[in-house]
Amino acid sequence: MAVEETFDLIIIGGGPGGYVAAIRAAQLGLRPALVEKRETLGGTCLNEGCVPAKALLESSEWFQRAKEGMAHHGVVTGPVTLDLDGMLARKEKVVAELTRGVDLLMKKNKVVRFLGSGRILSPIRVEVTPMQAGEVQTLTAPHILIATGSEPIALPGVPFDGSRVIHSTHGLSLPKVPDHLVIIGAGVIGLELGSVWRRLGAKVTIVEMLPHLLGGMDIQAGKTAQRIFTKQGLVFHMATRVEGVKSTPEGVTVTARPPAGDPFTLEADHVMVAVGRKPYTEGLGLDQTGVVVDERGRIQVNERFQTSVPSIRAIGDVIAGPMLAHKASEEASAAVEWMAGLPGEVSYDAIPSIVYTWPEIAWVGKGEDQLKAENREYKSGVFPFLANARAKTMAATDGMVKVLADPHTDTLLGVLILGPGASEMIGEAALAIEFGASAEDLGLAVHGHPTLSEALKEAALGVHNRAIHI
Ligand code: NAD
Repeated sequence: MAVEETFDLIIIGGGPGGYVAAIRAAQLGLRPALVEKRETLGGTCLNEGCVPAKALLESSEWFQRAKEGMAHHGVVTGPVTLDLDGMLARKEKVVAELTRGVDLLMKKNKVVRFLGSGRILSPIRVEVTPMQAGEVQTLTAPHILIATGSEPIALPGVPFDGSRVIHSTHGLSLPKVPDHLVIIGAGVIGLELGSVWRRLGAKVTIVEMLPHLLGGMDIQAGKTAQRIFTKQGLVFHMATRVEGVKSTPEGVTVTARPPAGDPFTLEADHVMVAVGRKPYTEGLGLDQTGVVVDERGRIQVNERFQTSVPSIRAIGDVIAGPMLAHKASEEASAAVEWMAGLPGEVSYDAIPSIVYTWPEIAWVGKGEDQLKAENREYKSGVFPFLANARAKTMAATDGMVKVLADPHTDTLLGVLILGPGASEMIGEAALAIEFGASAEDLGLAVHGHPTLSEALKEAALGVHNRAIHI
């Protein structure tokens, strides 16, 4: 019989939640075991999510610019052609290098890695079944951390087949540019991967059941973004319900019903379903252990990330909140700190959300529509990139910055950036909110000239009607 190995903490899942938990545990002098069934660490984000998507967004942007955006700058190129295999290979190389980097971090921190599927047997015991032949092992520890992430949601009656009906993972590795790609859902994945394949030459049609992009993140900004994406060639059917998907060896037919009028059909090479993700807890043995989940399958936790079984904690996509890698990493550190007797904190009011389209869309704190829905008073300042010198020099003037502040205390409530460099600039806004800064603080901070971030400063000044360049 196999010997039981004992650790201070068993982590199930090696994504940005699990591997960060392992490092934080090692820093705090705990001996962690990390159970992951995939050969490579990094989870969905690194292997088949954020990272490969960003690699393709970057490459497809280069392709698009080489084709159309350079003559404007006085750079004349010859015919530009696509080497899709080369582009996909570069993406794989980026992923391989980064996953190897995580392996090195595990070694450096003396994290004991188990390649296999973890199942919780009791509040202190996990069984690891190897993915291929090998012995089942049992691990024990006073703490268990579930960090198993999420998986794509399929439409009822429309299972993924990986070729005609696909999800985002398949959408990152299509072997050829489709003539027509239909995407269901105008959320983050729909907009990012829709942009990639549109830039590479596909006709892309997005069918969304709500009237707004991105779940109505900021209705005004969503409308502006939709106008920009439409100019780029994305076709949107908003407030439209998908009624059926039929696939054949040659393609796929999507039937959809618009808000008014008759249903219509779309013929395409693939339909990518991007209607959200759900917690991945299959095979974990939650029922048997008594870990309680809510009606959406999310593991319920208290403010210390403890489940209904106190020695078992959960973080990231398997619990409530935005399904974001950086949220999982922060929760991972905080959960491990609680195990070590420290007060682990996550600043939920300052978690940035980013969509890596062109232009990018990023926001942090509360949105304008959310404040309205909460009947909360606010003042706003808006500054367009059209009036920003750096954006003008880059020929990237689409979009704007919006700063929202409390009218009485001037405390920053939220910032939204639709424009070039939004993914990086939103960090400044997150820091300001984290520090409890006022709009005046942000507006008075000196920003280099000419920079894109001056638009953020100007929008903050705009809260008090004192923006300079507008
Ligand atoms: P999402 O929740 O962002 O968007 C899903 C969209 O599908 C919504 O607009 C929703 O209204 C729509 N929808 C739902 N059912 C529909 C139906 N039957 N017909 C038409 N539309 C329908 O989900 P996603 O884009 O699938 O992304 C999944 C998760 O992955 C998200 O939580 C997201 O945060 C995360 N993610 C993040 C990033 C990033 O941070 N840049 C990138 C990719 C994915």
